[in-house]
Amino acid sequence: MAKYKSPHKIDEDECTIDGTFKQIKGSNNTSDSVLELTDVWSCLVNPRDSKTVLSDIKENINVSEDVDLHHLKRVQKTTHPTTHDQILQVVICGSQLFSDPSEIVARVFKKSGDNVSCFQLVKVPLHPPSTREIMLEWSERYWPLVWKGNPNNQYLASVRLHTARETENLRKLVKLLENVTPGHVSVATMVTDPKTNKVLTWSLDERCRSVNPLDHSIMRCIQNVASVEKTTRNEGSEEREKNYLCLDLQFYTTHEPCVMCCMALVHSRIGQLFFLKPSLGRGGLLDPELGIHQHKYLNWRFEAWQWVKESEKLADQVPELGEIEA
Ligand SMILES: [Zn+2]
Repeated sequence: MAKYKSPHKIDEDECTIDGTFKQIKGSNNTSDSVLELTDVWSCLVNPRDSKTVLSDIKENINVSEDVDLHHLKRVQKTTHPTTHDQILQVVICGSQLFSDPSEIVARVFKKSGDNVSCFQLVKVPLHPPSTREIMLEWSERYWPLVWKGNPNNQYLASVRLHTARETENLRKLVKLLENVTPGHVSVATMVTDPKTNKVLTWSLDERCRSVNPLDHSIMRCIQNVASVEKTTRNEGSEEREKNYLCLDLQFYTTHEPCVMCCMALVHSRIGQLFFLKPSLGRGGLLDPELGIHQHKYLNWRFEAWQWVKESEKLADQVPELGEIEA
């Protein structure tokens, strides 16, 4: 059962919100059920002692410091390796929290240290399975798992967009293209603060004007936010200084960004990107080999949403780009 009740109309197959925004999944999206394993500490416990042992784990492991293990069953039945008695094997925590069993006994099993034995690292799936069938298969091969429904459906149910507001911002964005002069690249980007919906900056693609091949509209917007922030800081603003100038901001852009711009957005730690038109073969989001906004080897991820509303085809109002113009 889903944890969240969504105020949106969600199409779980199409991954759309309110028939307007389509979720762009990353290359490492867990719903694709790519099996990734991780080590967890486990120990053996006599069934009659399990209550104390489990309460020690609950009290002494800080879940916010641990890997997310909610998709694992905490306990499985097994046979003791020497006595062959029925016994329980219990997952304690991720392997990164402790380097050896003596540390675990000292820090976790304060009341139940005498009741635990045979510590070992076991391999378990790191992410929840996307289907019941995969859940059964992984449970059989690795460790019993809990089935909570498709993780991406749960994610979609947790999403909160301001559909009307974001729609209005994209209409504004399309209007910005009216400022493009002939011979220039028809790409525009606009940046807002999601807390206030204030437009912080906008830019067209300027690479023809400046003869700088890096002057894509997204790069220019990031520079603009940086220079505004620098001025504010120089003026001694009391606003809390942020390490990342575009932290959690919303970017609206007419075309799926190129790889360079996607990387710049990751480095700037933006929150969400909305775009109208795919840049087939040149973009950094839709290609499943790239999916830079959700890439597992990068240290920041942002949401990417494509406008797909059937009754208002905003993407038709922005031109296709030429060879080098993504
Ligand atoms: Zn670009």
